[in-house]
Amino acid sequence: MTKAVVIGSGFGGLALAVRLQSAGFETTLVEARDKPGGRAYVYEDDGFVFDAGPTVITDPACLEELFALSGRKLSDYVTLVPVSPFYQLRWEDGDVFDYVNDQEELDRQIAKRNPDDVEGYRRFLAYSEELYHEGYEKLGAAPFLDFKSMVRVAPQLIRLQSWRTRYAKVATFIKDEHLRQAFSFHTLLVGGNPFSTSAIYGLIHALERRGGVWFAMGGTGALVAGIIRLFEDLGGTVRLSAPVAQIMTQGDRATGVQLASDETLPADLVASNADIVHTYKALLSENARGAAESKRLTNKRFSNSLFVIYFGLDREVPNDLEHHVILFGPRYRELIADIFKGPSLPDDFSLYLHAPSKTDPGLAPEGQSAYYVLAPVPHLGAADIDWEMEGPKYRDRILAYLEEHAIPRLRETMVTCRIFTPADFSTELNAHMGSAFSLEPILLQSAYFRGHNRDDKISNLYLVGAGTHPGAGVPGVVGSAKATASLVLEDFAPTAVAAE
Ligand SMILES: Cc1cc2nc3c(=O)[nH]c(=O)nc-3n(C[C@H](O)[C@H](O)[C@H](O)COP(=O)(O)OP(=O)(O)OC[C@H]3O[C@@H](n4cnc5c(N)ncnc54)[C@H](O)[C@@H]3O)c2cc1C
Repeated sequence: MTKAVVIGSGFGGLALAVRLQSAGFETTLVEARDKPGGRAYVYEDDGFVFDAGPTVITDPACLEELFALSGRKLSDYVTLVPVSPFYQLRWEDGDVFDYVNDQEELDRQIAKRNPDDVEGYRRFLAYSEELYHEGYEKLGAAPFLDFKSMVRVAPQLIRLQSWRTRYAKVATFIKDEHLRQAFSFHTLLVGGNPFSTSAIYGLIHALERRGGVWFAMGGTGALVAGIIRLFEDLGGTVRLSAPVAQIMTQGDRATGVQLASDETLPADLVASNADIVHTYKALLSENARGAAESKRLTNKRFSNSLFVIYFGLDREVPNDLEHHVILFGPRYRELIADIFKGPSLPDDFSLYLHAPSKTDPGLAPEGQSAYYVLAPVPHLGAADIDWEMEGPKYRDRILAYLEEHAIPRLRETMVTCRIFTPADFSTELNAHMGSAFSLEPILLQSAYFRGHNRDDKISNLYLVGAGTHPGAGVPGVVGSAKATASLVLEDFAPTAVAAE
């Protein structure tokens, strides 16, 4: 059987490993940390279960597909439940917008702000649908390996005005400033600045409206565990606490990986789901290709980082708190500019508050509740912050703000708390400059201009995950796995199938 090694068990690595194992490759998934999931790691503190990263599950169909490859069903492995509202958006002036999937209810809330925006929103939704069709359905899982592939899609990109920014395009449809924010902030969920990211990322809106927003019972960690179980049921091998030190090569071919423990795992093909800069700079340091490509990549723009606080309260979720809440601070455009450019930590913040106990009380001890709150912050290259010093102070400021704006008596009822800073993204996940989402999703770093799903020189070295096409977010990296797997199958399938 053809042997494949996948480095890294983020959603991209997991999805690729399942696809390869389902196609008959003898696949080993090698993960540096003690648990799988990558950014979707799980902390278990004092009886609370905290998902470290992704919490908003969109396009469940892309996950179903992984199970269907071997005739199985996702629902046999994990239970997904719909979340409504998708998000509750709150502003400091008391304005609240429940972003729901019910058109009448949306119209009612939009009309309250500006009656003209009801029609404007409909046009925005139709535009978003078109983006979804062209950008996600047609191209979301198609590898862009050469410039010609980019030229082929140029007419669609031009027709859809993808050179415009997400915010600017939304502003052509919608007048109310809060609604403009409500329909443009989504790019931040994949590391994109709404004021510089291509309007094409407006497809996320249609993705949510069509497929809904879901939560895995037991947390996103239960979804990761379900995919791992599927992979092992298919005969795949998982190696945890096994950091890869080097991708072994002979000329322009990868021959396997060497672990930090010195153990070697020979393979016919290697795929890396590790951070794309780390892959080239550290894991290919013994091949000239590594230095050349990492130099090229480090000249690119990287997404912001995040500061995350996981905390548990000794009481149930307040009645007026929804599962996903966005708290907009006093500034929008200016704050985002400060986050993306640095050079320091802004005084104000906008926050995403996750209250999963609202949907699944089992994530906390009985009568108690689990949360995380995150603030987008500059990455380590944009702001030189000593996070060991600043982290605890920043945490205290955010908790005080939350107490005032969302959860009264938060600090006196808090029984557990931990933080994750940009420095942790760098050391724990090998993320270049501590970026939370890898390469910034601007037009000139998308599709062909993003990391390629197969290396240009080492013909059996593949890449998957946020740094590759189509980009960050769970549906994005699961789509990247589909693109990568299609290349592997093109290159290897005849041998793999023959050997079966
Ligand atoms: C706090 C947070 C919240 C988010 N919320 C959402 C959300 O609600 N919805 C959504 O769709 N997306 C969300 N995202 C984005 C999404 O989580 C990521 O884009 C996606 O999970 C990244 O997956 P990936 O395949 O790129 O791998 P990653 O998750 O980056 O995993 C890479 C893996 O490679 C491993 N690795 C690195 N180096 C080595 C090595 N040398 N040897 C072995 N293993 C190695 C790492 O340990 C890691 O496990 C969020 C991200 C963050 C950080």
